Amino acid sequence: MQELRTTYPTTIDGPVIYDTSMCSSLFTGHIANFSTAHHFEIPVDHHSPVAQLTMFVAVVCTVIMGLSRQMGNLVLNLFSLTLRWAFKDSQGNLTERQSSILKQIPATVETVLSKFNLDGKTTVFATCPECHCTYAPSFQLGSDVPFYSTTCSNQPYPDADICGASLLDKVLADDGSVSF
Ligand SMILES: [Zn+2]
Repeated sequence: MQELRTTYPTTIDGPVIYDTSMCSSLFTGHIANFSTAHHFEIPVDHHSPVAQLTMFVAVVCTVIMGLSRQMGNLVLNLFSLTLRWAFKDSQGNLTERQSSILKQIPATVETVLSKFNLDGKTTVFATCPECHCTYAPSFQLGSDVPFYSTTCSNQPYPDADICGASLLDKVLADDGSVSF
């Protein structure tokens, strides 16, 4: 509340109504609305703790540490594989609970982000397949379509050549035209 007072100062010492259902604060003569609901009602809460932890590791790797989506998917699948081997009994069987946990772990980082309600709230960077340098997208005014550099301009180390690897996949349309 003190932080809200600091962020939205008012000269009148009136009452502060803080409606957590709407996540809005009403100061005397000053209304500020912002939604934080996605931090509190997230689909991942309905998963088992093991699946939650696995998905959290994938989010940390991709969103905080900056691993590419491809590497994030690899982390997820390696976790699933490790858990499957750890769960199996001597005959290779899993209990119903163990199977349920494995089914709860998604195969892609995109699905994990949606479970944390983070899809659409993160920025997808292009990652160089050669040197792993990342590139933020640019946007035209009023558009939410991202544009990325087509080639990597990173110099991996001093005195090295520019990497120059292609950052985008070619897509061949039915009419024979090529787009990225
Ligand atoms: Zn590169």
